[in-house]
Amino acid sequence: MIHDVGHNCYMQVAISGAGIAGAALGHWLHRTGHTPTLFEQAPQFRTGGYMTDFWGVGYQVAKRMGLEEPIRKAGYRIESLRSVGRHGEVKAELGVNVFRRMVGEDFTSLPRGDLAAAIYETIEDEVETVFGDSIAAVEQRGDGVRLAFENGPPRDFDLLIGADGLHSNVRRLVFGPEREFEHYLGCKVAACVVDGYRPREELIYFTYNISGRQVGRVSLRDDRTMFLFIFRDQHEDAGLTPKEQLQNQFRDAGWECREMLAALDDVDDSTSTW
Ligand SMILES: Cc1cc2nc3c(=O)[nH]c(=O)nc-3n(C[C@H](O)[C@H](O)[C@H](O)COP(=O)(O)OP(=O)(O)OC[C@H]3O[C@@H](n4cnc5c(N)ncnc54)[C@H](O)[C@@H]3O)c2cc1C
Repeated sequence: MIHDVGHNCYMQVAISGAGIAGAALGHWLHRTGHTPTLFEQAPQFRTGGYMTDFWGVGYQVAKRMGLEEPIRKAGYRIESLRSVGRHGEVKAELGVNVFRRMVGEDFTSLPRGDLAAAIYETIEDEVETVFGDSIAAVEQRGDGVRLAFENGPPRDFDLLIGADGLHSNVRRLVFGPEREFEHYLGCKVAACVVDGYRPREELIYFTYNISGRQVGRVSLRDDRTMFLFIFRDQHEDAGLTPKEQLQNQFRDAGWECREMLAALDDVDDSTSTW
């Protein structure tokens, strides 16, 4: 299946995961003449996720992918990071301009899903993506790999690349169980986007910290608000759902935690990062 054209070998490449890495890889493989196929287990392209600061090498690569304009449009020019106390009193405020002066203007903040979507839009009409499926088995063959899927029929490729995130399915199938590679750092993270939350303040990243726990809140366009919860916890969760764990950790934590937890009731789990 490797097509040799002059000195170039063009390959059929299976990519597991249509997130930031999968979409970026799909972009570059397609652009250099290969035929990538993305396999994404979610039924549709995943949006949502936490706010990421995007700058440095990643920003320069995005520029070379022709993505600067969509990323700037999707991004937020956050003005300050405001740390508040239990009753909302301001404990500290850090102007982001200090950081901007250090790294220059090639810097924006945008939700993980919006970054992934901007990359994916460059290839979605040209690269095959199979949604709602996951690789079930990988068979190494002399000239490539045969993949079996949870839903679809088996397919052959020259190369398989795992871009399926922190809990990679391909790593598990090829190298073994996650516990052999994972080094748990003692913290859990949850992020989600809610509609119509109040209060809202534009371009300020709010953070509330108490021992072992942190909450972040940032207002997004279209009357949406992003929440980020981080907490220290044991690795096992005693069978509790992510929302139940958040209730246990933050119900009595102070600041706006109760209101934020109440707003989670309507959140669609598929667009959240738990
Ligand atoms: C709280 C937090 C803040 C962060 N802030 C920053 C920041 O400021 N700046 C920064 O540069 N980075 C930041 N990061 C890191 C950055 O978000 C990640 O490095 C990046 O999302 C990783 O991209 P990825 O494509 O590897 O994984 P993901 O973007 O997670 O994509 C993985 C994809 O694989 C899919 N998938 C999973 N399992 C399967 C399967 N079995 N079959 C098919 N598909 C599957 C998933 O649905 C998903 O679409 C942050 C991370 C966290 C947790």
